[in-house]
Amino acid sequence: MSTSVFFFQNKSLHFYLLHMPQSILKSTHYIELGSYQYWPVLVPRGIRLYTYEQIPVFLKENPYITDGYRAHLPSMLCLKSMFVLSNETVNIWSHLLGFLLFFLLGVKDMATVLPSAGASREDYVIYSIGLFCFQVCMLCSVGYHLFCCHRSEKTCRRWLALDYAGISVGILGCYVPGVFYAFYCNSFWRQVYLLTVLALILAVFAAQIHPHYLTQQWKKLRSAMFCSVAGYGIIPACHWVWLNGGFNADIVQVFFPRVLIMYLIAASAFLFYISKIPERYFPGQLNYLGASHQFWHMLVVVMFYWWHQTAIYIMNYRHNQPCTDSSG
Ligand SMILES: [Zn+2]
Repeated sequence: MSTSVFFFQNKSLHFYLLHMPQSILKSTHYIELGSYQYWPVLVPRGIRLYTYEQIPVFLKENPYITDGYRAHLPSMLCLKSMFVLSNETVNIWSHLLGFLLFFLLGVKDMATVLPSAGASREDYVIYSIGLFCFQVCMLCSVGYHLFCCHRSEKTCRRWLALDYAGISVGILGCYVPGVFYAFYCNSFWRQVYLLTVLALILAVFAAQIHPHYLTQQWKKLRSAMFCSVAGYGIIPACHWVWLNGGFNADIVQVFFPRVLIMYLIAASAFLFYISKIPERYFPGQLNYLGASHQFWHMLVVVMFYWWHQTAIYIMNYRHNQPCTDSSG
């Protein structure tokens, strides 16, 4: 478009707006926004999508996602934007549905699975903690992806901090049933590992209060912290193998592959998260579907679900094979 045409259009639009009744002016705003790229179905007034160049600096995280950004929105429109197809739609809905999944799993566990397994009060508490942590993790993530487009940078940062805190809570939700059932017959080590995991998670929370925690400079440190909290599980896992008499023990043969698969899912999820693969090879083509963060989200749900099923399995095993003096 040449400059003169642009000015002419701008001038005529101005004139049009000035001489228009207030009631129509409101909808004019909508029409004006509609002249940008937007999605005509269920788009609340005032939401438009931006390109990577147009968004505020604090939203510039992934240059390979070139379009489809929401930005500058007040809280109400952030909420409404969940119904707009943007580059966050899959991120929001994957964890919203994940929340629903773990909520319904909780209802099913309490209503049928645990009573039929002859669960004790302790079992109920452990399952409630695990599933509650998964649900908190899902909701914090939904909150962040909904409100990261808030017009206030401070609000966006607060939600980001909550998203990180949610990941820690999710990791805690994996450790609690894992350690509880692995060291079912050894209350000393069970307490040691549960307490150390709790201390580690609390240390991460404490670090999150640090004013530099969310800065770009601490990006590597943040990843390192999460990796060490998640990787710490290798210590109780190896100890558990040793206590049970090595890799040939029946219980180890049954459960070690499950732990291994859990770590494989976690590692691939994390690799997607940090590498920005595949969008780095197809910049601008995976803005709405197929970006790394979406894989990360899906894999986190799969991982939690896998771990929950494993915990049910190991609980049944423990109920059928009571502790002996030699069991770990
Ligand atoms: Zn996310």
